[in-house]
Amino acid sequence: MARNPTRAVRIGPITVGDGSPIAVQSMAATRTQDIEATVRQVQLLEAAGADIVRIAVDSRKDVEALAEVRGRTSATLSVDLQENYRLAEIVAPHVDKVRYNPGHLWHHERDKPTRDKVAFLAEIAERNDCAIRVGVNCGSVDPVMIERFGDDDVGAMVESALEHCAMLDDLGFTRYVVSLKDSDWLKVVAGNRRFSTQRPDVPLHLGVTEAGMLPEGEIKTRLAFEQLIPEGIGDTLRVSLTLPFEEKGTEIDTGRRILDDIESGRFRGIPTILPEGLNIISCPSCSRVENEAFIDLAHDVREMTEYAREHDLTIAVMGCRVNGPGETDDADLGLWCGPAAVNLKRGSETVGAFPYDEVLGQLRIELDALIAQRG
Ligand code: SF4
Repeated sequence: MARNPTRAVRIGPITVGDGSPIAVQSMAATRTQDIEATVRQVQLLEAAGADIVRIAVDSRKDVEALAEVRGRTSATLSVDLQENYRLAEIVAPHVDKVRYNPGHLWHHERDKPTRDKVAFLAEIAERNDCAIRVGVNCGSVDPVMIERFGDDDVGAMVESALEHCAMLDDLGFTRYVVSLKDSDWLKVVAGNRRFSTQRPDVPLHLGVTEAGMLPEGEIKTRLAFEQLIPEGIGDTLRVSLTLPFEEKGTEIDTGRRILDDIESGRFRGIPTILPEGLNIISCPSCSRVENEAFIDLAHDVREMTEYAREHDLTIAVMGCRVNGPGETDDADLGLWCGPAAVNLKRGSETVGAFPYDEVLGQLRIELDALIAQRG
C-alpha cells in the first residue's frame, strides 16, 4: 500500500513512520498502583503481539508503581499524562514515549504560556530518550480553539494538533507523532485527512476512541481505518474496546485482523453510510476505573436497550468520574461510573446517582420518556 512520506519516529526499539510496518498498540486497563494486575495486563498485551503498551499515571504513587512495572517487563512502554503534565519529569526515565493531550495541558497552570509547557515536555523527552504523542481528542480541545472554530469541532481538533506540531518543530523537537480521535468514526476520518493534507510528514496514530463493545466497536473502527489506511494515512493504531481485563488482548487481535483485511483488499465496512439506530459508545477503561462492574454494566446497558435499537439515539457509558462527566455531555443519555454509584445524565443535565443494581431501571425510564417525546 502507498503510504504518506512520514518521518521516522523511534519509540524504544520500535520505529513508526517512514514506511515501517504499522505498529499495533493498546493500553493497560488496570489501576496502575495494582502492580500485580498491571504487570499481568502488560504481559497479556505483549503476548497478544502489542508493539507498544500504554499506562496511565495521575499521581506520584502511580509513578512509583510504574517504576516497579518497568522493572518487571521488557515491553515498549508509553505513558499517558492525564491532567498533570509536570509528572513527565519523574515518568520519562521509565518509558519510551509520553502522551499529552493539548486540551488538558491548556487547563493545567493556565497562567503559564502553552509554549513553555510544551518546551518543558520536549526537554524532558529529549533528556530521557523518549518520543512524544500529541494526543488530541475532539471532545477535549482547549476552549480557545472551540471559540475560534465554533461548530467546526473537527477544524478545532486539527488546528490544535497543527499548533502543537509547530511549537515542537520550533523547539527543534521532531520525535513526535500525532493522534486525532473521536468516538464518531466520520470525525476521525475527516480530522486525519485534513491534518495529513497539511502535515503529510508527521506520523499519525489512528484510533476511534470509546468505540464500545464488540461487534459494534470493531465495525466503527473498521469504517475509519478502511478509509484512511488505503490513502496512506496512519503509522500506528489502537482499537479501543470495552472488554474484561483478561480479554484486553482482543484489541491487538482485532487491530491486526483489520490491517490484514485492508492489506488483502477485504473491505467489510460500508464507507459512506453512517450506521443508523441506537448508538452505544463506551470507553475502553483504564487505570481510572474504580469499579470493575463498569464493564458488566456496559454489556447490560446494551442488552436492556435492545428494544430501542431502531431509534437514532446515543447512549454513552463511561468508566470514571474524571472524564465521564465531560465525555457523556454530547450523548442523549449518559452514565458515568463512580466507586459505588452510577451517575445518570440526560444530555448535559444530571438525573441522579444510582447504585449499580438500580441504574438500569432508571435508564429504562429515561429512555422510554425520550422515545415517547421524539415520537
Ligand atoms: Fe479511562 Fe475514564 Fe477515559 Fe474510561 S472515561 S478510558 S476510565 S479516563
